[in-house]
Amino acid sequence: MICLCLTGKTIEENREYVRRYRDCIDLVELRLDLLSAAALDAVCSNPARLAEMLPGVQLIVTCRRPSDGGAWSGDERERRRVLRDMLDGASDWIDLEDDLSDELEIAARERGVGIIRSIHCFESLPDNMGRILDRLSRGGALAKLAVAVSGMEDVARLVESVAHRAPGRHIVLGMGEYGLMTRLLAGRLGSAWTYTSARGAVQAAPGQVDPRTLVERFGFRRIGEQTALFGVVGDPIAHSRSPEYHNSRFQRDNLDAVYLPFRVDDLGHFMSIARTLPLHGISVTVPHKAAAAELADRTDDAVQETGACNTLIREHGLYLGTNTDIPGFLQPLRPYLDAIDAATIVGAGGAARAVAYALVSRGMDVLIVNRTVLRAEALASDMNRAAERIESTRAGVRPGRASSGALPESSSDIAGFRSLIVQTTSCGMEPNEKCDPIPHYRFDGSEVVYDIVYTPATTMLMSRAERAGCRVISGALMFEQQAAVQYDLFRRSYWSYQRSRDDGTRSYDGVRRDIGRAPWSRPSEG
Ligand code: NAP
Repeated sequence: MICLCLTGKTIEENREYVRRYRDCIDLVELRLDLLSAAALDAVCSNPARLAEMLPGVQLIVTCRRPSDGGAWSGDERERRRVLRDMLDGASDWIDLEDDLSDELEIAARERGVGIIRSIHCFESLPDNMGRILDRLSRGGALAKLAVAVSGMEDVARLVESVAHRAPGRHIVLGMGEYGLMTRLLAGRLGSAWTYTSARGAVQAAPGQVDPRTLVERFGFRRIGEQTALFGVVGDPIAHSRSPEYHNSRFQRDNLDAVYLPFRVDDLGHFMSIARTLPLHGISVTVPHKAAAAELADRTDDAVQETGACNTLIREHGLYLGTNTDIPGFLQPLRPYLDAIDAATIVGAGGAARAVAYALVSRGMDVLIVNRTVLRAEALASDMNRAAERIESTRAGVRPGRASSGALPESSSDIAGFRSLIVQTTSCGMEPNEKCDPIPHYRFDGSEVVYDIVYTPATTMLMSRAERAGCRVISGALMFEQQAAVQYDLFRRSYWSYQRSRDDGTRSYDGVRRDIGRAPWSRPSEG
């Protein structure tokens, strides 16, 4: 269920929030501590009127002290009196902090009002969260534990604390940006409901989103007990177009699947959550591609050679790592490939690794130029080692060779590798649109210029190349292609999950094994 926190100063303001989100919410939490003195007096003198004022929704009342993230400025006796008054009204639930005496709880029970016992932690995560939840549930109360999380390690502990609890008898949520997943996946973590705030209103707690965003952007209502979960991990992640892309396809194909964005600081801790939930497919973006290559249970050749993994798919309980940037990058280049004999790769990050491997394994000599020359040198030597392995294992295949240079000093060397220039740095990407990584290089119009940045669709470098008469390929094409390959893999993982449910196949934990050929190069199972 979705609960809207009413943080307005007046009942009129709160009524407007209810009206705005009526179609998305199941219950509201009236924050008595945030009401103006006049509004609080009016509510306390006639609490029964709240039903008319906030019609058609279940009502939770609470009155938070500053230590619980609230704004109550009166004394404790007065706070208890305000809460007591509310019991004679239209409240369905009353939220009482753990340390509030049982007197109010007894009075609430007598009037048939549901009890929520809560703890809000803004410092560090408490130890023994399981035991705390047990204590909060005393007497059949709904236990609520809201804790500020500072990263995935905290979120993983939170998820672990509810992994074996019966659903619907608790609410556990992580406050702050990293805790968003505990709000989006509230149902899957057994929480009775998730809390939201109206857009533009005072946020009742850090990290809340508004109900419409929860429903329309994050597909909250579509997440059922059996829904297959997918997502993208990165930091930052807000800019990612992947949720829009994959969710629209899941809906088009009528699959019971949802794809969510996860801001992740530590992939190792995230993977323990992914295995618990579980997630059936994960897109991996900056800065986690190298870590994903390490943490996958199995990897294909391309991931082993590049050390970069942008896709994890779950098969029989194991995460298989692959890199769809490689086929995604090559696809838009196909019409030009025959005419290209050598290429310059600008940049030596995760994406450059996929690009370099795609070109070298197709027999192209590449020059890798980067601001940090050591990274360019490391990538070139990794690619030369990969080329030797390819040559020794695949008869008749002649891979290319890689050399390296520093930017901007090596700009003049580009001329010898100019039939294709691939821009792979984040220079030119929003918010650095005014950045051109090779400002000293003059295009002569013969180059094919491929900028893999896709926000904005046309970068400064692309405009300059176009003006010089070059053929230009946009990163948006690569994004579409790599996402299409990824979607195909997610669909396979989805159907494998459905089949395992049908025949009762148990998932199992496995050891790392190498699987050789990339899964996207194998025929589709449909
Ligand atoms: P990454 O691993 O963080 O690497 C960033 C690269 O950019 C490094 O080579 C870095 O150089 C360089 N760089 C950053 N700022 C720079 C500046 N001001 N001047 C010169 N060089 C600079 O990131 P990544 O995963 O490789 O991603 C890079 C870009 O590719 C991003 O914009 C990403 O969105 C895009 N991408 C697009 C697609 C697609 O489908 N179209 C797929 C993957 C990635 P140093 O080594 O010196 O720091």
